[in-house]
Amino acid sequence: MHEDELAAAEEEYLGSLTTAEAEGDDRAVEAALRPRTLDEVVGQDRVCDQLGLVLEAARQRGRTPDHVLLSGPPGLGKTTLAMIIASEMSAPLRVTSGPAITHAGDLAAILSALNEGEVLFVDEIHRMSRPAEEMLYLAMEDFRVDVVIGKGPGATAIPIEIPPFTLVGATTRAGLLPSPLRDRFGFTAQLEFYEADDLDLIVRRSAGLLEVETTPDGSREIASRSRGTPRIANRLLRRVRDYAQVRSDGVVSQPNAAAALDLYEVDPLGLDRLDRSVLDALCRRFGGGPVGISTLAVAVGEERETVEEVAEPFLVRNGFLARTPRGRIATPAAWEHLGETPREVSPDATLFDD
Ligand code: ADP
Repeated sequence: MHEDELAAAEEEYLGSLTTAEAEGDDRAVEAALRPRTLDEVVGQDRVCDQLGLVLEAARQRGRTPDHVLLSGPPGLGKTTLAMIIASEMSAPLRVTSGPAITHAGDLAAILSALNEGEVLFVDEIHRMSRPAEEMLYLAMEDFRVDVVIGKGPGATAIPIEIPPFTLVGATTRAGLLPSPLRDRFGFTAQLEFYEADDLDLIVRRSAGLLEVETTPDGSREIASRSRGTPRIANRLLRRVRDYAQVRSDGVVSQPNAAAALDLYEVDPLGLDRLDRSVLDALCRRFGGGPVGISTLAVAVGEERETVEEVAEPFLVRNGFLARTPRGRIATPAAWEHLGETPREVSPDATLFDD
């Protein structure tokens, strides 16, 4: 890009941010805070390094990059990376999601409308229907789909060529993908929760873009309560900014951040209401476990997927909950966090099953 093009793009970017801000639209603000290039991505160094190489090699060969699978809990940057892949390849991006593709025909329509080199982003790819998944195997490998016309013995499959494209799949549960699908991705990256230093940088970068004054201990306070997740860091920053503006001096300082986050029930370790109710149910209702995930989900009034994909990974990573072959159990840290004396889970304790 030439410098004047870059300046124009930057202006448009900042313009979209100001409009989103003015309209108070959180989702638009989130979109505007997304890093636009691999260099702007904070953290995930190894993933960015590996991905950068895949893209550069494809660029040099004048080919479309291999298909990419990104996995990890929500809010860690999967969509952001998909957008960056498209922009780094100067390719258009088409976005869809697993649950939106209920029939193989839906997928055939999307695939046959792709242009050469296009990046197709399929969010929640593990939720795609089985027939669509099977169609995708062929498309990924041979750039072809077989559209079946008619039913029963008279049915015929009409092959349709599709131009080379790059599939970027995102999933919160890589383990749920059937291996034939997983194996067709040339590059797979597992995104990890972010360290507090990286989240601190993200908060400061976002505060700069939103033109909010921040002190070092203010951004640090937000970073350490963000559950290792950039999306949450950006959201908490906006809530702290509201608090600072309405009830204090407008600065994102440590006392303002602490007061605001207490108000929004984000505890000092970053656990939110769902995390705490899972721990509360696990310890106080099921005596520390072992308990099946569905039973735990019913106890907290949430979908099993939400508990499994949103709350559990963070609780496991922070040593509050352990997965055992017999079910989920509370660790001593969980009891302590609830202000209770840790209880041993007996190896032959009854399983509260699903
Ligand atoms: P996912 O698709 O994994 O749910 P997103 O890509 O939508 O997550 O990221 C959520 C938000 O977090 C984005 O709007 C972006 O602003 C921010 N974000 C994610 N990853 C990073 C990162 N590595 N550096 C800076 N900001 C990030």
